[in-house]
Amino acid sequence: MRLVAIGLALVLAGCGGGEGTPAKDGGAGADSALGADGATGDAGARDGAAGDGAAGDAAPADGAAADVAVALDASAAPVATVTVTAPSAPMVVGAEATLTATLRDAGGALLTGRAIAWSSSAPARMSVSAGGVVHAFAPGGPVVITATSEGVPGSVALTIIDGVATGIADVYRFLERCPGNDPAYATIRADFQLRADDVPITGDPPCTEPYLTVPLAQLTDELYVLQALRIAYYLSPGTEGFLPWTPLGLYPWLHTRAAGINLKSAPNQLYCCDQLDGKLFFAMSRQSASSRDSKRDWPGLSSSLAFIAHEVRHADPGPGHTNGCPAFPLPTSPYGCDQTYDLANLGSYGVQYWLESSLADGSLYIGIPCAPTAVAQAYLADAVQQANGFIDRFVTNPPPTATTRRTYGGPCPP
Ligand SMILES: [Zn+2]
Repeated sequence: MRLVAIGLALVLAGCGGGEGTPAKDGGAGADSALGADGATGDAGARDGAAGDGAAGDAAPADGAAADVAVALDASAAPVATVTVTAPSAPMVVGAEATLTATLRDAGGALLTGRAIAWSSSAPARMSVSAGGVVHAFAPGGPVVITATSEGVPGSVALTIIDGVATGIADVYRFLERCPGNDPAYATIRADFQLRADDVPITGDPPCTEPYLTVPLAQLTDELYVLQALRIAYYLSPGTEGFLPWTPLGLYPWLHTRAAGINLKSAPNQLYCCDQLDGKLFFAMSRQSASSRDSKRDWPGLSSSLAFIAHEVRHADPGPGHTNGCPAFPLPTSPYGCDQTYDLANLGSYGVQYWLESSLADGSLYIGIPCAPTAVAQAYLADAVQQANGFIDRFVTNPPPTATTRRTYGGPCPP
């Protein structure tokens, strides 16, 4: 067994670091960790880095060729085909999305500047604007959205859902259990290897229940990371086909993208990923005692889970970061922004916003209302605050303000 790491930092993308301070982590710390990017040619390693601020990380010109056809639309060729593209995941009640209609002539050349009329087969369930923006009002479907240009229709069928009930029915009581006492513990340890400065961690961290009041001396980085992964494991049922950025459920998505987590003793490390023994490990610094103390309860743990998802999204690879958003407006600002909030291609901050806002509005249901009232209010307020902390991270098309308006979910467990 090879225990020694090869020490190659295969940096897919650096991130606005700052575990525990999601709203304003500028990325100065973590981005400084960026080095040789994609040197190994590992699949997809370079794609996510475009505009990610990595030193010497010139954005490739890939994709530019596909747009050249736009210039050919000086002809009066009639529209022959209309193709409508939409988010692949089902839409949740209350959600909006912008559909795109692509027009081509009989020869396949892209046509622009033509009038397009949009219509919905069930406007009461899902409306569509003159600009192709759909708004989901009620569960059901499929609703067929049609774009017509010069008499030629193209359509897409969309399904609207109320949300998903995950495997966590009462998150407050869920957090009483230590990860090592969970039946899924062995699976989680097998699926996600923990490392400390590249060296595998084999022991089981001690934990005295209830986890919510575990002594701080036991609340190590290893312990709370395992609790965050336990949350991911039980949050996952029902999320297959529901997450906007992957057809997989949350846990399989994390598991197939990252082999584990590499805890770093050096400060301000938060990035994806280290390549160790040919596998990708999400890297994060060990936390201070006060930060670890916040990881005994849902707000701190959900923040960690969202950060893990942020970093793993880079390994998809998802879109990289840029600047120019309200939080980081200047060309000289750290790369703490996503270019846009597009459900069809979410960036890493978009993933964080989506997770927190979905937990806040109950479309990703974990039984927060089952907690004592004051606890539930605090959890929901925190989820709203965390989600809204990302709204100024988008250069264009920022997401809407998060709310707690939804009450999806079954009865609380006895
Ligand atoms: Zn990032």
